[in-house]
Amino acid sequence: MSIIFKKSIRGRKGVTLPVSDVPLHHEIPDKYTRSEPAELCELSELDIVRHFTELSRKNFGVDSGFYPLGSCTMKYNPKITEKIAALDGFSSIHPLLAQQNKGELYTQGALAVLHNLELLLCEICAMDAFTLQPMAGAHGELTGMMLIAAYHNHKGNQKTEVLIPDESHGTNPSSASIAGYSVKSIPTNERGILDISSLESLINEKTAAIMMTNPNTLGLFNPEIEKIATLAHKYDAMLYYDGANLNAIMGKFRPGDANFDVMHLNLHKTFATPHGGGGPGAGPVGVKKHLEQFLPISRIRKCDDGIYRLDYNYKDSIGYIAPFYGNFSVCLKAYVYILIQGAAGLSEASENAVLNANYVMNSLKSYYDLPYDHICMHETVFSAKKQLENGIHALDIAKALIDKGFHPPTIYFPLIVKEALMIEPTETESKETLDQFISAMIEISNAAAKNPKDLKKAPVTTPVGRLDETKAAKDMDFCYK
Ligand SMILES: *Cc1c(COP(=O)(O)O)cnc(C)c1O
Repeated sequence: MSIIFKKSIRGRKGVTLPVSDVPLHHEIPDKYTRSEPAELCELSELDIVRHFTELSRKNFGVDSGFYPLGSCTMKYNPKITEKIAALDGFSSIHPLLAQQNKGELYTQGALAVLHNLELLLCEICAMDAFTLQPMAGAHGELTGMMLIAAYHNHKGNQKTEVLIPDESHGTNPSSASIAGYSVKSIPTNERGILDISSLESLINEKTAAIMMTNPNTLGLFNPEIEKIATLAHKYDAMLYYDGANLNAIMGKFRPGDANFDVMHLNLHKTFATPHGGGGPGAGPVGVKKHLEQFLPISRIRKCDDGIYRLDYNYKDSIGYIAPFYGNFSVCLKAYVYILIQGAAGLSEASENAVLNANYVMNSLKSYYDLPYDHICMHETVFSAKKQLENGIHALDIAKALIDKGFHPPTIYFPLIVKEALMIEPTETESKETLDQFISAMIEISNAAAKNPKDLKKAPVTTPVGRLDETKAAKDMDFCYK
């Protein structure tokens, strides 16, 4: 397999157009034209189709196999949502149409979808208002932190710090920092959850917010959340909920009920958009009443005449944080998914996500070290400590899984677990698939004890084997034959 540029043959063309018989009106001035032709590869249409088809077969996705990437929710999403998002009435409307004079009359369907989705998310999360604009989880976090900053500025609060547990997703501290706050890390206790006494010693008048993920990235639910909320509010600090992986608690626990003030969701993890590959996402942000006036514009309003309109009239708004209304098709898919599931279906999805993770955890805990041995939520974190006694690292286990036909779990995260293997089976996998994965993990653990040398060679079934990772990043061509 060679890269497409290597296949290029000078002069070869994919399409040929007839010579234009339309007179040229405006030549592009010389100063704007290239001095040399662009370096593009020259191939026939068939060469290109074969190249990309071959690449797609080498790709691994949820449609090809089990993908237990912890913290990422790589689950199967129903194709019906894709089909509905592709309907002409949705996919062919122009985003500027809604802003034209009377344009809203031609976009009522789309605006109703967005408005109704906001209401459903409010209901699912017990929040008072949502914006659908942010285009990723991290973008939602940044929006949330900007809302918190706007709240404190409005009240004249002098706040400079955000407190974040040490097991949090890496995007949390970066979002807080980009929003202008300095970040302090709250340690995790021996039970694997935020240590309240450390929080008590860190929190003060300067604390703008506490950002939490619950269940946290160890897959553990923090039962002391109301106590933490009371402590935060005593200092007028906002409590932020990272709801990227809502499939752990959806239909069971609503962040708003536990006094969280701001939160984001990842529609591209929980709500029927495939996650990964840097594809389109959506990180809607929900707020309680006291933060609503700061939400980004435009907001969608259902007026007394029953017409949905875009409202820009919010003087305290943080302004635009994305063009138009966010990733419309991702929001649409989430809307369809929620309607298909209904309240009972959403809650059942969480039950299955949690059941599957606990099944994997209990089936593997006599083979792999389990640093926090408690009932988990949607994911479980092992350590390769035992295997390391024979020189086998989490990385070797991950590579060996590839040879057995599975995508590796997340490794070396969360950082507080040495040699971490973070497994998230998701609600969509069957018991048969989980059993196959468990058997593979047990075989690898046995191999680690008996033939550790063999594991170091993995993967041997892939087009390229174990890469020199530094060279692969710097010299992207070197591994191709
Ligand atoms: C995935 C994830 C994020 C970031 O979401 P992106 O869409 O990748 O920016 C934030 N927090 C948690 C807990 C996550 O799992």
